[in-house]
Amino acid sequence: MKDSNCIFCKIANGEIPSATLFEDEKVRVILDISPASKGHALILPKEHYANLYEIDDETAKHVIITAKRQATKMRDALGVEGINIVQNNGEIAGQTVFHYHMHIVPRYKDDNVNIKWEPGELSEEKKAELIKKLSL
Ligand code: AMP
Ligand code: ZN
Repeated sequence: MKDSNCIFCKIANGEIPSATLFEDEKVRVILDISPASKGHALILPKEHYANLYEIDDETAKHVIITAKRQATKMRDALGVEGINIVQNNGEIAGQTVFHYHMHIVPRYKDDNVNIKWEPGELSEEKKAELIKKLSL
């Protein structure tokens, strides 16, 4: 399904032009319009899924396999020193476009990209509670 009000549906399906690195029947990979670093790319499914909870398993598999291929190309063609994969879900997590997408962010020495948090502590009590609540 596509959403006629969604800009990433339009980009993914070629209705709005984009700087495309790869396209197949399920996904399009584009350069981010406001890159965090040189080569910052986005993988967009062609179908509309708002977020990780909605994406179907086959597309999710295809996205991560595409990420692996694109990251390998970045390593070989740009000589990147590392890669971060980022995928935001929900406003609180920084999602601004509500069509599932995966960021591939090449990393370079002194690039000023910030994907960090203060390490917290996991008490025995919390650990037990979370294992109980979160085990699949
Ligand atoms: P997020 O914050 O995870 O929802 O990421 C949205 C990303 O989409 C941001 O990095 C934007 O720079 C990028 N973006 C928004 N509009 C466009 C566009 N028209 N073409 C390419 N990238 C876009
Ligand atoms: Zn969409």
